[in-house]
Amino acid sequence: MSTKSAFRIDVFSIFPKLVDDFCNESLLGRARSESIVDLRCHDLRDYGDESRRIDDALYGGGAGMLFRPEPVFAAVEAVQPQRPLFLLSPGGRRFDQGFADQLSKTQGFSLLCGRYEGVDHRVVEHLIDGEISIGDVVLSGGEVAACLIIEATARLLPGAMGNEASPVSESFGVSRMLEEPHYTRPAEFRGWEVPEVLRSGDHAKIERWRRAQALHRTVRSRPDLIERRGGLSSVEKRLLEEFPCVPYPERPL
Ligand code: SAH
Repeated sequence: MSTKSAFRIDVFSIFPKLVDDFCNESLLGRARSESIVDLRCHDLRDYGDESRRIDDALYGGGAGMLFRPEPVFAAVEAVQPQRPLFLLSPGGRRFDQGFADQLSKTQGFSLLCGRYEGVDHRVVEHLIDGEISIGDVVLSGGEVAACLIIEATARLLPGAMGNEASPVSESFGVSRMLEEPHYTRPAEFRGWEVPEVLRSGDHAKIERWRRAQALHRTVRSRPDLIERRGGLSSVEKRLLEEFPCVPYPERPL
């Protein structure tokens, strides 16, 4: 009998249904129903005042409202969520595939979704374990960020994806590169053909083509990733010459 407990995620939000509903579909929904993921979404308003309010104006003046500390502390103290507890914030550590990978190897984690101007700083100082940002962009609330983090992490859990080999070969996988383009049937669509090599049955050549295309794509779209791994090897440079890059749209921006 397996004694392994589910990966637990607690989410605190004034719109818990946004996260709960999103996470009920597709692979995440299945991971929940199969008890791979134990996701619990908590409504911060349940810990608010008589009229369920949890916000107040800024000390020192200025536009916008903040979550008051009492309801946030009360929620966390009542729920005793899985630690670490992260606040979603544009000022936090930038989320990426490596971070998702780290999180997926723990027992679980919790997320506090801000709204308005964010939360009283005493929450940051005395309640949470860290802050996570999903990128240099400002959202109106942490819920979409929470969905993003939960989805990226949960799909790395054992058994969460049908094809367990998938996460390794994807973009940002062990190769730290983007993935090559893929094709499915039909072999010809509106006169556009699937590259001949993929239909050749020559597996060694297909492997080289795939690697070359992954390199081309990364050089083209994310040269920083190539730089980070110390440039291209001579073998890789030869691969790029052997196979020309498949066409991509010209970027208008
Ligand atoms: N006044 C804040 C922005 C508040 S946005 C500032 O300028 O930094 C409201 C809430 O949305 C935040 O509390 C946070 O929970 C969430 N949020 C916004 N942008 C985010 C991002 N890039 N990453 C993670 N959460 C974000």
